[in-house]
Amino acid sequence: MTEAEAIKSIRQHLEGLFPKVCPKCQRKYATLREYQLVTKNVGSPMSYDAEMGRWHPLKPVGAVSLANCPCGTTLALTSEGMPLFKLWRLLNWARLETRRQGISQQELLTQVREKLRQEILAGP
Ligand SMILES: [Zn+2]
Repeated sequence: MTEAEAIKSIRQHLEGLFPKVCPKCQRKYATLREYQLVTKNVGSPMSYDAEMGRWHPLKPVGAVSLANCPCGTTLALTSEGMPLFKLWRLLNWARLETRRQGISQQELLTQVREKLRQEILAGP
C-alpha cells in the first residue's frame, strides 16, 4: 500500500460519515470538505490500536480525529464502521511507514490529516 492509496482509503471512509450534525448548535456539515473548511483541528489524530501495537485487532478500539465546531463543541471523526480488512491494511501501512520515516504513529497521522486536508481543499 502506498501513501496515496492509504489517503484514498481513509478519505473514502471519512466521506461516508457525512452529512454530520453538531449535537449542540445543530450546524449541518453536508460534506467532508465543508467540515474541513469550517472546523478547527484539535490535537493529533490517534490510532489506539497502533499505539498498543495491535496490528490485526479483531475488535479494534479504532482511530479518532478531533475538531472544534465554531460553537466550541468538539466533534470527532472515527474509524468506526470501517471493514476490518481495510483497517488492517492501513495499520500495516502505518507500521511500516512510521518505521521507514522514524516517526511516531501520531506524527504520521498528523501528516496524513494535513495531506488529506490539502487534497480536499484543492478539490472541486
Ligand atoms: Zn456546533
